[in-house]
Amino acid sequence: MNTFTNAMEQLQAAAKAGSITTADTAFLQAPKRVIEVSFPAKTDDGTTKYYKGYRVQYNDARGPTKGGIRFHPHADLAEVQALAFWMTIKNAVVDVPYGGGKGGVIVNPKEHSRSELERISREFIKAVHEFIGPTKDIPAPDVYTDKHVMAWMLDEYEAIKGLHQPGMVTGKPLALGGSQGRDYATAMGGAFVLKEAVSLLDINPLKATVAIQGFGNAGMHMARILDGWGYRVVAVSDSRTGVYDPKGLDVKKAIAHKKKERTLEGYGAKIVTNKELLALDVDILVPAALENQVRKSNAGDVKAQLIVELANGPVTPEADALLEKNGVTVIPDVLANAGGVAVSYYEWVQNNQGYYWEEEEVMEKLEKKMVKSFKEIHALVKELDSTYREAAFILALRRLIEAARLRGAL
Ligand code: GLU
Repeated sequence: MNTFTNAMEQLQAAAKAGSITTADTAFLQAPKRVIEVSFPAKTDDGTTKYYKGYRVQYNDARGPTKGGIRFHPHADLAEVQALAFWMTIKNAVVDVPYGGGKGGVIVNPKEHSRSELERISREFIKAVHEFIGPTKDIPAPDVYTDKHVMAWMLDEYEAIKGLHQPGMVTGKPLALGGSQGRDYATAMGGAFVLKEAVSLLDINPLKATVAIQGFGNAGMHMARILDGWGYRVVAVSDSRTGVYDPKGLDVKKAIAHKKKERTLEGYGAKIVTNKELLALDVDILVPAALENQVRKSNAGDVKAQLIVELANGPVTPEADALLEKNGVTVIPDVLANAGGVAVSYYEWVQNNQGYYWEEEEVMEKLEKKMVKSFKEIHALVKELDSTYREAAFILALRRLIEAARLRGAL
């Protein structure tokens, strides 16, 4: 499945729903710049291995390109391109002054020691340092990268430049200029929009059941937040296994187990596969893992009334059409997971001004931004009788087209 082709299909569908011409979206039909590198990094026994990495700077009409870097054995250019495109849309949806970018390194972090991952992170920055920077292109964590990876990348970049430039990367540790709340911002932003959608759909939060696919940074914090709000989290899964208890999981115990054992196996509930989790009889489904999980072949099995896309691209365009037909509301990734980049923006603002905010201030700003974006999109859904995905894209496209036009790029 070509994820970039899917992303372009979404663009076409939204442009059509919003009566936006093909000429006006031409500047978004291909990335502005693609950087492909091959770089060496030594293993712990001193052998040199070569890795392939990508950074796609999709569009910068609204500001420096911005988006995460993922480490994944199956990362490929089409995927990174799609992710960079979605960042372009996402950053415009929540109105942060950035274009969109994304990076990927083909590596399986589970097969490497910490010191090997450090060398891979530093070498990747050596390979791309000329193309990134706080006013150029700003990376952040993504799948299988975290604050430690960001710390190594920042340190390498600053060593090369001979300057302190904390704003070259976000999602850093607090001690290096990170922001309060950035670690759970993606899930928190998703929870804020989930709450809005739940009240519109007349779902009772205290009776609602939730299944979450993915138990990494986004999925784990989402489980914690929703559990704290009184929702019944009945299933969670990681890349290997899922656990299900219709009466509700002990979320704190599941998190402690996963942190200690690095797997959900042995948690002590019914085991389900990732595929089974997506088809569970729940009110709300939160895909928080990888792309293309809900497809034509299994979209018809989804029983949830509401899908909140915490992952990027978890639902394919074919599945979208089936879900719409079946009356399932999908809150799209470009809104639902934008809390991460929204707080990345707050982190960058704090770095630029050298003045740091309390967690409460960050969260207040995040909630306001997420609720405002949700309401803008909801108004478009009503006005155009469109899906939430189409409406989110239309909102973003209007902003992107205005910027491109002002620059003379249209
Ligand atoms: N990787 C995250 C995303 O897909 C965060 C990007 C960022 O903070 O720049 O939205």
